[in-house]
Amino acid sequence: MAKALIIGAGGVASVAVHKCVQNKEVFKEICIASRTKQKCDDLKEKLDGQGCEISTAQVDADNVEALIALIEDFKPDIVMNLALPYQDLTIMDACLATKTHYLDTANYEPEDTAKFEYKWQWEYRQKFEEAGITAILGSGFDPGVTGVFSAYAQKHYFDEIHYIDILDCNGGDHGYPFATNFNPEINIREVSANGRYWKEGQWIETAPMAIKKVYDFAEVGQKEMYLLYHEELESLALNIKGIKQIRFFMTFGQSYLTHLKCLENVGMTSIEPILFEGKEIIPLQFLKAVLPDPASLGPRTKGKTNIGCIYRGKKDGKDVTYYVYNICDHEACYREVGSQAVSYTTGVPAMIGAMMVVNGLWNKPGVYNVEEMDPDPFMKALNQWGLPWVEDFNPVLVAE
Ligand code: NDP
Repeated sequence: MAKALIIGAGGVASVAVHKCVQNKEVFKEICIASRTKQKCDDLKEKLDGQGCEISTAQVDADNVEALIALIEDFKPDIVMNLALPYQDLTIMDACLATKTHYLDTANYEPEDTAKFEYKWQWEYRQKFEEAGITAILGSGFDPGVTGVFSAYAQKHYFDEIHYIDILDCNGGDHGYPFATNFNPEINIREVSANGRYWKEGQWIETAPMAIKKVYDFAEVGQKEMYLLYHEELESLALNIKGIKQIRFFMTFGQSYLTHLKCLENVGMTSIEPILFEGKEIIPLQFLKAVLPDPASLGPRTKGKTNIGCIYRGKKDGKDVTYYVYNICDHEACYREVGSQAVSYTTGVPAMIGAMMVVNGLWNKPGVYNVEEMDPDPFMKALNQWGLPWVEDFNPVLVAE
């Protein structure tokens, strides 16, 4: 029976909180702490009395001392960082100071430059090892489940994986002309960055959205998808031995792309501060303030997500192709936990990753990406906790 401190109370945290409460055999007590305490209290009010003891707290996760005080007061077994990537290092510092396990769903990002690099967090490896505590990086869906899928493919079906295509399809429709399915600032930073993929030992960079493919997704249908850089490419390129190429594709509708182009053209997606009425503001943060809150998309979103990975490589000298994916229904997620599928597919693996650590299955001092851990118990838990996966040994491939 464990205690978890959940930092953040947005779309992803809300799902993780619901799932921890459902999994009360493991999580006997949780504390939800965020910048705006009201959001934590609203979650507590909704979920109290179901067998998991819930408390709430206000915390500024940019402030290490405040985090240390909160951790010392609540004494969790693990801190689940479901705030924003900007807070990863302060929360890791507080975990080190209090010798508490750590988990997140997104790599650390400096506020002023979009980097999508693990280097800052990997620098904590030795410190976590010496402190005897575990940090699990990127336990969402992508990164997260895509890494677990890769470890599972490697363990069970391949001697060598040569090619990986990660396909992230959101076939959902929320009815707005433009909205993002998770934190708008992080989402827009991701899609407006240059594309990049790993090929034969080096990174190949493309202009944003320069490579487009069409793929027919099970239970969603044909969609246009674009090559993006995504943070799990960095760790998978290191951790999957013998890899020759890894690409990441995400689907986007035409309306989303047209709006994004227009916002970009007028400077609204910039993360360079500008002076506005005597005050410095970051245009992208202002844009976030006027866009629909991702949490409000839940009741309006219809359709399904289909996210998975296609692997090609060798087993016993023979060619093997393997596709593993999850399909998630926005409306079913909303009925279950009051959120759409993008939050759901991230919040469930966050709970599962935390469960792996507190149950001792993934408890190994140091800082790890999910594919460095045993995938089997995580894969089993995905089926149990709402993200069942499907295997296909003869899938249609993405064109080169
Ligand atoms: P939201 O914007 O909905 O929620 C973020 C939460 O963090 C809010 O409650 C916010 O508080 C809180 N927060 C922000 N700054 C601070 C701070 N300094 N101190 C305390 N709390 C703070 O984001 P999402 O739930 O959509 O995303 C959460 C994380 O999940 C992000 O890091 C995102 O990148 C990641 N993600 C990962 C995915 C994956 O598959 N791996 C997919 C989708 C998201 P307030 O309410 O005051 O704003």
